[in-house]
Amino acid sequence: MTTTAETAVPTAHLSPILKQATPVVVDHAQGSWIRGTDGNDYLDFTTGIGVTSTGHCHPRVVAAAQAQCAKVIHAQYTTVMHQPLLELTEKLGRVLPPGLDSVFYANSGSEAVEASIRLARMATGRPNIIVFQGGFHGRTVAAASLTTAGTKFSAGFSPLMSGVHMAPFPYAFRYGWDTDTAVDFALRELDYLLTSRVAPNDTAAFLIEPVLGDGGYLPTPPRFLAGLRERATRHGIVFIVDEVQAGFGRTGKFWGHQHADGVVPDIIITAKGLASGFPISAIAAPTELMSKAWPGSQGGTYGGNAVAAAAAVETIAVIEDEGLVENARVRGEQMLAGLREIAPRFPRIGDVRGIGLMAGIEFVTTDASGATVPDSAAAIAVQQATTGQGLLTLTCGPGGNVVRLIPALVVTEDEIRLGLHRF
Ligand code: PLP
Repeated sequence: MTTTAETAVPTAHLSPILKQATPVVVDHAQGSWIRGTDGNDYLDFTTGIGVTSTGHCHPRVVAAAQAQCAKVIHAQYTTVMHQPLLELTEKLGRVLPPGLDSVFYANSGSEAVEASIRLARMATGRPNIIVFQGGFHGRTVAAASLTTAGTKFSAGFSPLMSGVHMAPFPYAFRYGWDTDTAVDFALRELDYLLTSRVAPNDTAAFLIEPVLGDGGYLPTPPRFLAGLRERATRHGIVFIVDEVQAGFGRTGKFWGHQHADGVVPDIIITAKGLASGFPISAIAAPTELMSKAWPGSQGGTYGGNAVAAAAAVETIAVIEDEGLVENARVRGEQMLAGLREIAPRFPRIGDVRGIGLMAGIEFVTTDASGATVPDSAAAIAVQQATTGQGLLTLTCGPGGNVVRLIPALVVTEDEIRLGLHRF
């Protein structure tokens, strides 16, 4: 059939709800750099929201994915197993904390979060989940129910999943306290919750991020994680750590929770950096716990896709061979030190914080009463201005007033220096 100008069908348009943070359209990308269709080169400190861990199109990851495409693209692993997933499981076994020896795969962070909640409820027979203020765990209805990083993630489609209770997060800057005081307060409030509204023996899980991501790039203080671990053990509550954004080397340790010495979660959720940009996620737990989920209760058609799994195997190999966890630590220190040098010159910058290659710059202003309040307009203006300077950044935080920098783990000293200069 031929199509003439007269018979041309209307074309589709992108949804009007799309809110793109930058006007950039990517032509191609390599390492820390994106070339736009406008012909400009952008230093990418967004990495697809913390996904392209080994940089854009790392040659080894590209080669692994291309080779796998020619072998088998998809063979649903609950029907027939495939080699990349066996290799990935073996490789993950080497980087996971001892004891978390059983892995289950999905496609996205949200699905893995849901899988962890299903598992915790099935294992304990208890309904309640305790989450922490400012946490972000995804956008599916169940994951949105667990998310308290902003009303935009759940407003308008209630009722959400029941059984979710929020406890305070030790947000020292917002409270105007030092970290220790904030941790003491948050633990006391949690204990109060557990003796007032949410009985421990009705509580299936604590769910927390090692670094609040969309909640404002706030590292969870190690003593708070240790306090949760202790209470979880005492009450038979499953301790779930959502490493979707902070895992895979991003914080300068392989897992974000490892900054809390000796703390080992019952379930780790991972996605994003796991496969350098291919969609795959996983939960890891002790076999005894994992076996409490019955066959058929977890998974999905595309879970553990063969090409994504091959890319993940190569991602772990690249992280190990190129020393990228250590690079994240060293380059992260450089980035944070540089930001702390810049900050005092700008009164609207209230706080600079972060860990490894996750840095948050919180913008504030004063209201009519003289109180310090979030300044989302400043954060958005800065984010847009950096794009104009050839540096891609993102905003986050419940008030939308935090600019976050998330470079690739392969970022170089010169690229951090250039990024700071452009910022
Ligand atoms: N958990 C955390 C900590 C995240 O940062 C995200 C995404 O940003 C998710 C879960 C949800 O992951 P996804 O968007 O892949 O569903």
